[in-house]
Amino acid sequence: MIQINRQRLLERFLKYVQVGTTANPKSDQYPSTECQRDLGKILAQELVDMGASDVRQDEHGLVYATIPSNVKADHAPVVALLAHVDTSPDAPGHSVRPQVIESYPGGNIPLESGEVITPDACPDLKELVGKTLITTDGTTLLGGDDKAGVAIIAELAQTLLENPQLLHGDLKVVFTCDEEIGHGTDKIDLQALAADVAYTLDGGGEGIIDVETFSADGATVKFIGDSIHPAIAKDRMINALRGAADFIAALPRETDTPETTAGRQGFIHANTIVGQVAEVTVDLILRSFDTDDLGGYADQLRKIAAQVESDWPGLKVVVEVRKQYRNLGEGLANLPQSIDLAVKAFKNLGRPFKKEIIRGGTDGSVLTEKGLPTPNLSSGQHNIHSVREFACLDEMVAATEHLVELLKLWSDERL
Ligand SMILES: [Zn+2]
Repeated sequence: MIQINRQRLLERFLKYVQVGTTANPKSDQYPSTECQRDLGKILAQELVDMGASDVRQDEHGLVYATIPSNVKADHAPVVALLAHVDTSPDAPGHSVRPQVIESYPGGNIPLESGEVITPDACPDLKELVGKTLITTDGTTLLGGDDKAGVAIIAELAQTLLENPQLLHGDLKVVFTCDEEIGHGTDKIDLQALAADVAYTLDGGGEGIIDVETFSADGATVKFIGDSIHPAIAKDRMINALRGAADFIAALPRETDTPETTAGRQGFIHANTIVGQVAEVTVDLILRSFDTDDLGGYADQLRKIAAQVESDWPGLKVVVEVRKQYRNLGEGLANLPQSIDLAVKAFKNLGRPFKKEIIRGGTDGSVLTEKGLPTPNLSSGQHNIHSVREFACLDEMVAATEHLVELLKLWSDERL
């Protein structure tokens, strides 16, 4: 097996995490923060320096490059690898001071700020004794989500360019922006990318293939009442708040809520309410691994809305449901090799692996639905979106080795 340059991978990662790239959900720019472009610029230059082809940072800040095929047959499928440069706005992400722990001895990891990473709160740690971990000083997140993925892909690209004996078809590298605020795929030009299959390197730990996500719809329910001074309101006021309160009270409570479900169970979740007497808006999300269930949830909302309307004469209730994303598994079924070859690569390396389902969406859910099958793979992230975030270098090395093997398998595959 090829030796991955562990030290160089670590240095890459440390460099990337020190470039603050926090996404801003309130921004109406793309990318939402200019600093994301700064990391993209560094990455594009590194790709040029290592000899990658077609390197460009587009007007949206996304970075693209190609590592050209080195197999004779010209039909090898084109594989794209994606990672996002932005970090979550849920924790401070600038002035990151990474701390490297060589050969983690086990037990608590005290951080400079007084924060402590404990095996109790993070059971993954028990499996990582003896490994190299990277934490922060406890005042910021680390940004291993997803700079671990970025570093893995960049190191893989350089490894392939330096080792022409490693076989692969055309490899497309894509570094994206604003994944953390739900805009990771907005600007990806799939036509130009022309890939047959893709993988996001944005998963936790090691050896996990995310093969399913929720299917997701959003719903907005508007309650339109009639406001008038309370002093003269008799038989005239129609209080939208009353209807909205009844509506929320009538939603499922013992089942089908985020608070009462796990695993493959879906839910209806009321997450925002805004309004006054004249008008109230309730926003909800509908989630299920079975897309057909979403229609059932939408029907429930409409039924409750109709009941509220008849209980409060004069009140108007308008339900609007919109599609968000679809279970990754539905689209992956069109290209079973996207999972099978990832599994085979783990087996060829003699490594354990797990297929998992995500109670959420990934950029891959959207890309897969648009026609590019995109499972998600582990990249050594842990405790993400937190000042107790850490990453594991050994897991990042393992992910890079897995990709080398996976690309070799794809270079032999014909679609
Ligand atoms: Zn991520």
